[in-house]
Amino acid sequence: MREPEIYCPQCTWRPLGTSRWLCTPKMGGCGTNWNTFWTGGVCPGCGYRWEITACHACRKFSLHRDWYHWPEPATHSEQHEREAEEPVSR
Ligand SMILES: [Zn+2]
Ligand SMILES: [Zn+2]
Repeated sequence: MREPEIYCPQCTWRPLGTSRWLCTPKMGGCGTNWNTFWTGGVCPGCGYRWEITACHACRKFSLHRDWYHWPEPATHSEQHEREAEEPVSR
């Protein structure tokens, strides 16, 4: 299974395992601290899904899904291309 790279879309800061986000009480949250990338932005305290995630480095807000950078789908592996050899006429 392929894993996405997770980093800030604005400054490429990568969240650490020890990074924590707050389910902001000011915005109606429950005050839980957790690593939002372990749950895909869902607060484990109240189950609220945060669509916007703030960066710890640049302090800018980005859509949570924009933090996930999936590798380009592999087209053909080298090995596969080599199966398509051409006959050589002498
Ligand atoms: Zn919460
Ligand atoms: Zn950032």
